[in-house]
Amino acid sequence: SAKRQSQSFTMYDNSLDSHSPRRLKMMAELGNAIRTNQLTLFFQPRIEVKTGLCVGCEALIRWNHPELGRVPPDEFIHLAEMSETIHALSHWVIEHAIQQIKIWQSVNINIPVAINLSARNLVDLSLPDTIETLLEQNNVESKWLEIEITESAFISDPGRAESVVNDINQLGISMAIDDFGTGYSSLSYLKRLPIQTLKIDRSFVDDMLQDEQDAAIVHSTIGLAHSFGLTVIAEGVENQDTLEALSALNCEHAQGFHICRPIPPDEFIQWFSQSLP
Ligand code: C2E
Ligand code: CA
Ligand code: CA
Ligand code: CA
Repeated sequence: SAKRQSQSFTMYDNSLDSHSPRRLKMMAELGNAIRTNQLTLFFQPRIEVKTGLCVGCEALIRWNHPELGRVPPDEFIHLAEMSETIHALSHWVIEHAIQQIKIWQSVNINIPVAINLSARNLVDLSLPDTIETLLEQNNVESKWLEIEITESAFISDPGRAESVVNDINQLGISMAIDDFGTGYSSLSYLKRLPIQTLKIDRSFVDDMLQDEQDAAIVHSTIGLAHSFGLTVIAEGVENQDTLEALSALNCEHAQGFHICRPIPPDEFIQWFSQSLP
């Protein structure tokens, strides 16, 4: 009905407004949520396209809010990014991802875990030391942690972001460009930065079998990545036909609901053991 439509429009409108009551409430509570462990990490497996073997996973944050229920990251990450809270949030993510690596290694799951960092984290010159300390404290080798950043990380202070990325990579941590192709960047950073992986955004992967332009973007991104010696991960793979098309294009890795949704750590152990050959 018209009434329903106008209501849902109002809600949608509010959700984009950082001054809406829900946003203000979340912004005020986020710091406390981090300290009281209302946050949790889900993990989505990543497979090698040719073999189907699990070769890694991505940590994706969720907020179990006492009243609002499970709040997805798209609703609160940008709130954290508007303040210093993003530093505490990413610290929490790094620490918990590293602890999870340790736990999984104790049950013989030896795969790298990728975390997402915000553009704002990369202007923090102390971040590489923080990561190094957390790895050392938990006795985890740097090769088990991977970091995903977006092209937007190099907009506000490219020189500083480049230096932070260099220092993190020097620790032995592999770096991926996330949502590749959706930003406004010039590609020149591919020449300069120590990047090992490109993740093709799911908006392109999703429609690659129906839309010629999306197929062309996927195809040329894989070609570009390979000419730079980079590994490619396709995200958002939702069916077998897409996985096969990616295989034909020599895309190395894939993630998506067709393979597995993001799941809690316990479920991950079950999924992993039944995925073994
Ligand atoms: P992203 O890094 O691009 O992560 C991929 C998103 O796509 C995830 O949403 C994942 O659940 C979803 N996804 C995976 N496979 C499929 C699929 O086959 N189909 C569809 N439709 N979706 C799929 P999620 O978990 O809601 O995260 C959204 C975004 O929030 C992430 O996008 C990332 O930018 C951000 N984010 C998540 N966790 C963190 C974090 O710990 N720190 C920071 N800074 N950002 C995070
Ligand atoms: Ca990501
Ligand atoms: Ca994406
Ligand atoms: Ca994203």
